[in-house]
Amino acid sequence: MAVYVDKELCKSCSICVNACPRQVFKITEHVNKKGYNYVEAEKEEDCISCGICESICPDFVIHIEKTEN
Ligand code: SF4
Ligand code: SF4
Repeated sequence: MAVYVDKELCKSCSICVNACPRQVFKITEHVNKKGYNYVEAEKEEDCISCGICESICPDFVIHIEKTEN
């Protein structure tokens, strides 16, 4: 499973942090060019590919890619 976050688009709203059932995301201390603390998929390995984050982010920041075994 791969969780891609376009850090420059993130507005630090925390919606994905609260919506993810596996607590994959974390707001970092790093700031993007727009001045927002962007999120990172800190626990990417816990992702179950439910797709909630991808559809709930208002700024289309997150992309989930399923990797076949
Ligand atoms: S929902 Fe989108 S804009 Fe909001 S914190 Fe998550 S990635 Fe950033
Ligand atoms: S796809 Fe589901 S489990 Fe994976 S990061 Fe997004 S909300 Fe969390």
